[in-house]
Amino acid sequence: MATESFNPFRMAQAQFDAIAEQLGLDQATRDLLRNPDKEYHFNIPIRMDDGSYQVFRGFRVQHNDARGPNKGGIRFHPQETADTVRALAMWMTWKTSVVDIPLGGGKGGVICDPHNLSMREQEAICRGWIRQIAKSVGPLQDVPAPDVMTSGQHMLWMLDEYEKIMGAKYPGVITGKPVGTGGSLGRTEATGYGVVYTLREALKELDIDIENTKASFQGFGNVSQYAIELYHKYGGTAIAVSCWDNSQQKAFTFVNKSGIDLPALKAITNKYGEIDQDKAKELGYEILEADAWIEQDVDILVPGALENQINEDTVKRIKPSVKVIAEGANGPTTPEADAVLHDRGVWMIPDFLANAGGVTCSYFEQVQCNQNYFWSKDEVLSKLDRKMTDAYYAVSEMARKRNVYMRDAAYLISVARVAEACKLRGWV
Ligand code: GLU
Repeated sequence: MATESFNPFRMAQAQFDAIAEQLGLDQATRDLLRNPDKEYHFNIPIRMDDGSYQVFRGFRVQHNDARGPNKGGIRFHPQETADTVRALAMWMTWKTSVVDIPLGGGKGGVICDPHNLSMREQEAICRGWIRQIAKSVGPLQDVPAPDVMTSGQHMLWMLDEYEKIMGAKYPGVITGKPVGTGGSLGRTEATGYGVVYTLREALKELDIDIENTKASFQGFGNVSQYAIELYHKYGGTAIAVSCWDNSQQKAFTFVNKSGIDLPALKAITNKYGEIDQDKAKELGYEILEADAWIEQDVDILVPGALENQINEDTVKRIKPSVKVIAEGANGPTTPEADAVLHDRGVWMIPDFLANAGGVTCSYFEQVQCNQNYFWSKDEVLSKLDRKMTDAYYAVSEMARKRNVYMRDAAYLISVARVAEACKLRGWV
C-alpha cells in the first residue's frame, strides 16, 4: 500500500533504474519500461443489499506485453492505490520473465473491503469490474487472476460476465478459476509451494538440512498456509505466523516455539487468513504484537502477505540466526532494508522469483484451457517444481558468477529478457 513515506511504485522504479544502469540500457528502453504501457481507472457503481448505491474505484494496469499477453492478479483492498497497482504490474513483468513463461505483466485492483461486503455485493463488483475493462482484456491481450482478498469464486463471476458480453466461451481469459470450471489442480497450492521449492534449493546450496530449520511467516493467507504445508512435509518447523485481526484493525503474531499445528490453526482461521485469538489462546499459542514474527530466533523468514513489511525500522529486529528470506509477498522489503540484509549476508530469494509459482501455474491453467484437456495434480506440481527449480538456479548462478545480490541477479535476468523482446519487436 502507498503511505506518505512508502510508495511501492517509486520503489519498483528505483529497483528498475539501478538494474537499467547495470545493464547499460538505452534511454528509450528505460523510458518504456519504467512506466506502464497503459492503465485504466474506472468507476464501478453497485446497488448495495440495502437498496442504496455505492461507487467503487477500479484499476487495471498493463505494464509490458513484449513477451506475451499481460498477466497478473486483481486485489480487493481498502488501501489500494493506483501506485500500488502500477508497482505490482511492473513486478509481474519481471516475474513472468524470470520463470521464462510467454507472458507480460499487469495488475488490477478495486478499492474496497470485502469484510464489509456481502457475497452478492462482491459479485456485483466483479461483474462491474469486467464490464468496464472487457474490451481491453482477453486470452490474447491481458489475463487477470486472484490476489489479495480475491478467490476462484471472484474469477468465475468475472469469467461469466466476460463470456456473456462476448457471447462465447473464453476459459483462457482469466486464471485461478475453481477446478471443474476451467481451473487447474494445484493452482491453490502453487504460490506457497513455489516459495518452498525455491527455499528447498537455497537450503541445499547453503548446505543447511531443512529438517533442522525453523521458520517464521508473516501473513496466514493462501501463500503462507500452503508454504507451511510443504515446508512441514519437508521436515521444517514453522514456529510463528502473523495475521490481520479485522475487528481490532491491527495484526498480531501467534507463536508456538515447538512448532505450529497447521491443520488445527487452519481450523480456527477465516477465509481471509485471520486467526481467532481466543481459540488460539486455548490451543496454547502465545499472542504477540504485529511485528513479532520478524524477531523470532529462526533460520528462515517468509514475509507472505503485503508490501513494506521489512523496512528500515523492522530490519533491525531480525535475529542473527536468520540465514534465508523467501519473499512470498510482492514487495515486502524496502531498498533500505535490502541494503542491510545484503551487508549481513542473508540469502535473499526475491519476491518475483520466490512467489512466481502462482503465475506459473496460471500459465499451465491457460495451456490446459487451450487444449481443453486437464492434467493430474501430480503432473501440474511436478512441472511447477521443475520451472521454479530451474529459475532458482538460473538466478543463483548469475548471483555467484557476477558476485551480485540475489535480487539484482533476478532483475538482471528478467529485465534483460524483456528489454531484448522489446528490441526484437522494434519498439526501442
Ligand atoms: N496474483 C499472483 C501474483 O502476484 C498470481 C498472478 C497470476 O496468476 O496471474 O503473482
